[in-house]
Amino acid sequence: MRGAMHPRHASPRSRVLTIALPIGLAVTALGAMWAMTEVTPTADAVAPPLPAVAAQLPSVEFASVAPADPCGEPAVVDALAAGDDEAVIAAFGGGADFRDAIVAGSAPCISLADPARRWVVVNKTHPLAPEDYEPSQMTEAPVQTTTASRLIRTDTAAALGDMAEALNASGSGVLGMNNAYRSYGLQVSNYSGQVSAAGQAEADLGSARPGFSEHQTGLAVDVVACDSGCGGIDAFGATAESEWVAAHAWEYGFIVRYEADATGTTGYEPEPWHLRYVGPELASAYHEGGYHTLEEFFALPAAPDYAH
Ligand SMILES: [Zn+2]
Repeated sequence: MRGAMHPRHASPRSRVLTIALPIGLAVTALGAMWAMTEVTPTADAVAPPLPAVAAQLPSVEFASVAPADPCGEPAVVDALAAGDDEAVIAAFGGGADFRDAIVAGSAPCISLADPARRWVVVNKTHPLAPEDYEPSQMTEAPVQTTTASRLIRTDTAAALGDMAEALNASGSGVLGMNNAYRSYGLQVSNYSGQVSAAGQAEADLGSARPGFSEHQTGLAVDVVACDSGCGGIDAFGATAESEWVAAHAWEYGFIVRYEADATGTTGYEPEPWHLRYVGPELASAYHEGGYHTLEEFFALPAAPDYAH
């Protein structure tokens, strides 16, 4: 079902719109200029045929769709300094342009390794740096929580609250949380517990090694369904809540980080309960572009396994 709703290699609609708009405007502007030259017509003042002019437009207009040097744009510099990630992305021209600039290598001011940013990538080949990183803006989750780990980043908490409210209003049940932020120390005990119980190979498919978990950023949250008492994370996939989350989480800035059929890229078995907050701009671009992993979105190599 997820595959049918978000087909791989879907055409990026938003790009077509961004490109089409400036051409339309340019044609209109040229039309206006042409009209002005006709204010004092003379016998030999023949207006150039508009289609021929329009045909020359793309080479001029495509360059101005997004800033050529986004990191030199004052709006980008200011938003980065202010820690306003959504404003940074907006100043790039939006989520799709932000992604394109990173993939093209024209955004040296953006680090996908910065654990405080909404665009951080943490996977089996991209550990947190420093490995004992602790987020600064933290609060308690605004939903029912089934473990003692109630902390979550404040921006992620607000989005989670809005999403849970919308899910409930849609009649799809009640969204709760197993846990969100996990410190480096907690991940040490979680991971070693998994290794003791199932062996390292099995543990690596479902639990991140310390320093390699998205949960340490405060931007990841494991959600559960709380209809008549909360279920566990393993039971989430079959619920109405899960179906709603798979379809609508992006509207609140979240992506389902470990989808079915993506284990070869992410290194994790499907986890419909593990949501990663990337903010509304990036989540929209991710959804509209038909992406299924953050690695694919930023054109990074697959990260199915640790280097050692
Ligand atoms: Zn998780």
